Amino acid sequence: MPQSPTPSTLVLTAPLSGVLVPIDRVPDPVFAQRMVGDGVSVDPVSQVLVAPCNGRIVQLHSAGHAVTLATDEGIEVMMHIGLDTVTLKGQGFTPRVANGDRVAGGDPLIEFDADFVATHARSLLTQVVVTNGDRVVSMRPASGRVVAGRDPMLEIVLGTAGPQVAVADATEVVSPDIVVPTATGLHARPAAVVAAAAKRFKANVRLRRGTADANAKSVVAIMGLEVGSGDAVKVVADGPDAQAAVLSLTALLRDGLGDEGAAPARPRSTEPRPDATATALPAPAPATVPPQDPDLFVGVAASPGLAVGHVVQVRPEEIAVETTADDPVAERRRLETVLEQAKGQLDALQGRLRADADAGKAAIFAAHEELLDDPDLREIAEHAIATGKSAAFAWHQAVSTHADRLARSRNELLAARANDLRDVGRRVLRLLAGAPTERGDLPPNTILVAEDLTPSDTASLDRTRVLGFCTTGGGATSHVAILARSLDIPAVAGIDPRVLDLVGGTQVVIDGSRGTLRRNPSNDEVARIRGTLERRAARRRAEVADAAQPAVTRDGRRIEVVANIGSAADAAQVVGLGGEGVGLLRTEFLFMERASAPDEDEQTESYLAIVRAIGPHRPIIIRTLDVGGDKPLQYIPMPAEDNPFLGERGIRLMLGRPDLLRTQLRAILRASAEGRVLVMFPMVATLTEWRAARTLLEEERARLGAAPIPAGIMIEVPAAALMADQFAREADFFSVGTNDLTQYTLAMDRGHPKLAARVDGLNPAVLRLIATATEGAHRHGRWIGICGGIAADPQAVPVLVGLGVDELSVSVPALPAVKAQVRTLDATSCAVLAARALTLDHAADVRARVPEAE
Ligand code: PEP
Ligand code: MG
Repeated sequence: MPQSPTPSTLVLTAPLSGVLVPIDRVPDPVFAQRMVGDGVSVDPVSQVLVAPCNGRIVQLHSAGHAVTLATDEGIEVMMHIGLDTVTLKGQGFTPRVANGDRVAGGDPLIEFDADFVATHARSLLTQVVVTNGDRVVSMRPASGRVVAGRDPMLEIVLGTAGPQVAVADATEVVSPDIVVPTATGLHARPAAVVAAAAKRFKANVRLRRGTADANAKSVVAIMGLEVGSGDAVKVVADGPDAQAAVLSLTALLRDGLGDEGAAPARPRSTEPRPDATATALPAPAPATVPPQDPDLFVGVAASPGLAVGHVVQVRPEEIAVETTADDPVAERRRLETVLEQAKGQLDALQGRLRADADAGKAAIFAAHEELLDDPDLREIAEHAIATGKSAAFAWHQAVSTHADRLARSRNELLAARANDLRDVGRRVLRLLAGAPTERGDLPPNTILVAEDLTPSDTASLDRTRVLGFCTTGGGATSHVAILARSLDIPAVAGIDPRVLDLVGGTQVVIDGSRGTLRRNPSNDEVARIRGTLERRAARRRAEVADAAQPAVTRDGRRIEVVANIGSAADAAQVVGLGGEGVGLLRTEFLFMERASAPDEDEQTESYLAIVRAIGPHRPIIIRTLDVGGDKPLQYIPMPAEDNPFLGERGIRLMLGRPDLLRTQLRAILRASAEGRVLVMFPMVATLTEWRAARTLLEEERARLGAAPIPAGIMIEVPAAALMADQFAREADFFSVGTNDLTQYTLAMDRGHPKLAARVDGLNPAVLRLIATATEGAHRHGRWIGICGGIAADPQAVPVLVGLGVDELSVSVPALPAVKAQVRTLDATSCAVLAARALTLDHAADVRARVPEAE
């Protein structure tokens, strides 16, 4: 029988017998990332879920696989049997309680057929989580084996707030008047501090000035309140942690928001992978203008290019919804209907994008469609509907809770998905509230400025009117940044929030390569930029016209120029832009944003589609899956790692999951029947890894009876570069991944916003490793290419040619410019330049010796 040793501690006993598993080991990010709540998981050996303490059943899921119990202390404990068991639609589960029932610890709640569930669902792991964690100070899960109804499983230390707070969801908590002491009132910067603080709470938090209310989680809404210095405001909140939110924000506002002059923490964002930004434009370089220039706003380069235009501020729309509703059944039905409508909209959008041969963007909306089917999201919404909330309110709350948790994730890719979730959430909310679906027309020469743009915003962008955009949030891995690059439109992410103060119509220059926005440029500056843009356009036309010509230096050295691609849509453009093949096919596109790995046939078809687009005689280097650590996959359990870039990544991860690697190798081998396919392994650090990978390749080849294909490695770990001559005895070729090689050589995270400017592949230390790898390759008659971002950097190309590399693999748009540049070079002079570069002190010294293209 559970008991509370002190009034503020609650001990839950095990609801099932079995072995306890830490929640972050559960192979489902929804639980592992604690999106539903914190707690513990049980790998069960018993078949009756029993109450872990006394309480009342507040929600029994209609599929019978999950139940939530509210304890007498007001803590809501959700027990979720198995993973993805909602899809069993009740089969295998026999509930022993009903909503509203009072239960004692040890009472049976749900019986289940473990054999059936284990064979029909992803896992039997049963999660026990607290869904209203704001009441909890700390939790201590037990470990090891437990017996149901007997052994303690989770000790929960409760906060001081009384039980009435936990049930005060619908009650508004209002602060006294707070006089805003900051000198400039709540303009963008302090507003951003308030919004960041408000976002830490689940409650709806608003700022009230007189009769006007603003969403305290929105910088723009707060600014819209126009609170001046000395004005009085109130903090108003309702929801689970309303009281804590009001106390915290009141203190923050009274204290002058910490140091008002200090900028709020810039949203963590990353430099784009340089190759994704490569075009005929100069390489991304750090902004060199002093940041104190009041007309200059600095962010992170998200998509290259330069444009002059006028600001249009994009404010997030506020959609008003009713909080409660009388008929939960009708509300649930409404939600179902609207979710179907939203799917219809997304289908139509994907159809349109596919018709425009934009499979990349279509895939993003396919992922949105999957989010609509997310069982946990629905479950949370249905739970709220069952407690009397309207469908719109319940949906909004479910999406916000999920999205806020995602946004707080230490994992950048997951954090970036928060914006996608909010986007699809708003689509549904608009339908539920009957709000208009499209934004109005934009004026010509628009530069959009926003806290964040959603993929839907960018997909419906009129490219003839929008010249660029910048967001205070987001990073280079966000979908918005990816879309900007695919639209070939300059974009800056993570920019100084002061941009939100810019008046609509202000003339600005956006430089997506440097990550800056400049306001009120002089007429001379505008004229100069327009001249530059015209010259670039003319040069681009000439380069594209000559794209089919080979890249041969003036003194006769041929460099193979091939493409980095990540989708069939990229492949379709390679040959037309002069690509002599594919130097790097990033196969991650096939594996991301889905619930299970693609099978052998699906992979074979995808690779064959690319082989057919490139042609049977051009080389296509297919890189095996490079995920892990920083790039998690839903269906591969990956415990959180302290140093993901140094953890289970690339080939290390795949060698630990040989079934996945074997399947991929078979698909690659099958696709090789129709073209010149080569296979390449990423992140190889040791000869042992390489040999293990090669053995698997050989075994699968023999099993299929396929012809041998060349196998090579990425050189992106310094160890591999230093051991290149030994690798070259066995591997058929090398391709240097300078993005990773640079970060590992300099021990600087390639996505770190503060270090971005220093993570430069032209650092002489990196160049020395490339020189070593090149010598090692050539000593054994192997060829070596570069597929990292610097391969398309106009200042790096002469140095790389001088170091003797044989191939440059660059992003598709960069192909014509790189070929054209190689044709202007003299290989002998390049060799002199490269030899000198190896002796220099800094990357900047190397860059100083190579003229920057305009
Ligand atoms: C690299 O590291 O340079 C590379 C090409 O691989 P990725 O950018 O995919 O890690
Ligand atoms: Mg890499």
